[in-house]
Amino acid sequence: MGLGYHPDPTMSAVLSDPETTLASEPLQVLAQVFGYTQFRGAQQEIVDHVVAGGDALVLMPTGGGKSLCYQVPAVLRHRAGQGVTVVVSPLIALMHDQVGALHEVGVAAAFLNSTLEGDEARRIERELLAGRLTLLYAAPERILTPRFLAMLESLHERKRLSLFAIDEAHCVSQWGHDFREEYLGLSALHERFPGVPRLALTATADDHTRADIKERLQLEAARLFVASFDRPNIRYTIVEKDEPKKQLLRFLRDEHDGDAGIVYCQSRKRVEETAAWLNAEGLSALPYHAGLDTDMRRRHQDRFLRDEGVVMVATIAFGMGIDKPDVRFVAHLDLPKNIESYYQETGRAGRDGLPADAWMTYGLADVVNQRRMIDESEAGEDFKRLQRSKLDALLALAEAHDCRRVRLLAYFGQASEPCGNCDNCLRAPATWDATDAARKALSCIYRFRQYGGARAPRAFGAGHLLDVLRGKRSEKVAQYGHDELSTFGIGADLSEAQWRLVLRQLIALGHLRAEGEYNTLVLADSAREVLRGEVALHLRVPADPRPHGKQGKAARTTRTRSGGAARPPLALDETGTERFAALKAWRAEVAREHNLPAYVVFHDATLAEMARSVPATLDELAGISGVGTTKLERYGAEILRVLASPA
Ligand code: ADP
Ligand code: ZN
Repeated sequence: MGLGYHPDPTMSAVLSDPETTLASEPLQVLAQVFGYTQFRGAQQEIVDHVVAGGDALVLMPTGGGKSLCYQVPAVLRHRAGQGVTVVVSPLIALMHDQVGALHEVGVAAAFLNSTLEGDEARRIERELLAGRLTLLYAAPERILTPRFLAMLESLHERKRLSLFAIDEAHCVSQWGHDFREEYLGLSALHERFPGVPRLALTATADDHTRADIKERLQLEAARLFVASFDRPNIRYTIVEKDEPKKQLLRFLRDEHDGDAGIVYCQSRKRVEETAAWLNAEGLSALPYHAGLDTDMRRRHQDRFLRDEGVVMVATIAFGMGIDKPDVRFVAHLDLPKNIESYYQETGRAGRDGLPADAWMTYGLADVVNQRRMIDESEAGEDFKRLQRSKLDALLALAEAHDCRRVRLLAYFGQASEPCGNCDNCLRAPATWDATDAARKALSCIYRFRQYGGARAPRAFGAGHLLDVLRGKRSEKVAQYGHDELSTFGIGADLSEAQWRLVLRQLIALGHLRAEGEYNTLVLADSAREVLRGEVALHLRVPADPRPHGKQGKAARTTRTRSGGAARPPLALDETGTERFAALKAWRAEVAREHNLPAYVVFHDATLAEMARSVPATLDELAGISGVGTTKLERYGAEILRVLASPA
């Protein structure tokens, strides 16, 4: 299949052509090689620092553009005779596409991993030792083998080892969520090759994890770059969980017909059920979780990357390293563990910068389940305490009635103004003062504990509590004589749904705990403050269960496209749409020939811009974002031909 490395005729043509002046400035490389006109955010600063040989630790959100932070320096340093950049990446399944993307822009790159035949691996090793590679991708366990270290040694002696880029650097920390034992060995790189600059990159690192990365990778002296964590094109929405599957289906049909996206669920079982159900409803959905065999996982991932409009229903086993740029939504049917996970998962939407949705349903059971998972885990008390406080922060986000983005960014230490692009900004939720209701519920639970009549248990679950509060004479109420309690019927004015919201908030805020097999409700110490009226409680009025109400939908139509499966990412007239379709058909051919996902050839946004502006010459074509020198040379003439006669 010609996977690892193919000598690139275009590249050698460029290199041997005395008329072509090779760019030696970061911005020129960005434009000529990658076809982009501007660095994003902190990229320029990071690139400058690394090109000059400095170590760096980069925190940048998912989709922020981390790859260019080492790819541009890799090209520049290779051109300056400094040799190869070694990229440490934990995910061998994705190296193929990453390397393919570099070949498309004319950069000599390869990967070494267990999927290669022996011959192919030897060939790449020879290319590496001959100094012909600009970038080499490998997994940490590969890099730490004696054979590989010996090759690095040989390059190092000849001053042909340019840079180490350590991707997903949080994997080195046990505090992070993706700890990988093999990462611990990477400190060897610094010990054996002390002069070679290192760039560690991650999208998620709280203070703890950050400290771990620095210590374990020996990056104490590295410069820290914290990019803006804002992903302005992502719209955050969190809805009351009502009938989650139906809510999801409505969201997909109303907002994302024909779009590719990811639906996260907590359990394998729920993944299977949800995928089957979506399929039965006519969507193209695939399951993905760690219980499926490797082959099926790979097939499903491939289809997600290569076909259009596939919905991947997955546990968190799916997603790290997925760099598909046109994921239009990430939906959560269950609550993630904490804000770091939520942000990393939702960050997989809209890497291309076009509008995308992060949508979540959230309900009482989520709070109870997550709390329980922490309580029942085998972890030590310190770890549990940390997990609880992280969960609390996420619950506060879910219950919030102010701007979600302001809260998210504040969590990552960044101040901001209300964003205008989250559910709460678009439609300020109504709130009501639930202080009184909360006190009634807590005092009823208190009475259960005090009341000894009819040998009743001292604690109950939400169902019985609501019966008592609402004055319902159920069998259990009669059996325990709970209709004699002073709190019997004091909450008849609220509906059951409203009461559940009150309970959820009380649990989310930590005033109540749900314990044991039956989720019996128990007062926490802080409940006393609520009972004394020292804490006020303001709750959201449950919104219209539709994922986006009328207004959200209306606001959205101004930014969506013409409908149907092949929607261009910007408004095109009829002939423009035809040209776009023709370009996509052409791209599909190329992608098939090269055995790569279509977006590696060109992003939708690039094709749409071609269809809109209809360049007539190669020069004009070169001006479009996403068209670098190599792609221009390879594909320019064909694109002009497709544009000239789309049919
Ligand atoms: P990350 O690894 O941080 O999640 P990527 O490196 O995959 O993000 O970049 C996300 C997307 O943004 C990619 O499709 C990439 O081509 C695009 N991108 C990154 N930097 C730029 C830039 N300066 N100009 C235009 N597009 C960019
Ligand atoms: Zn907002």
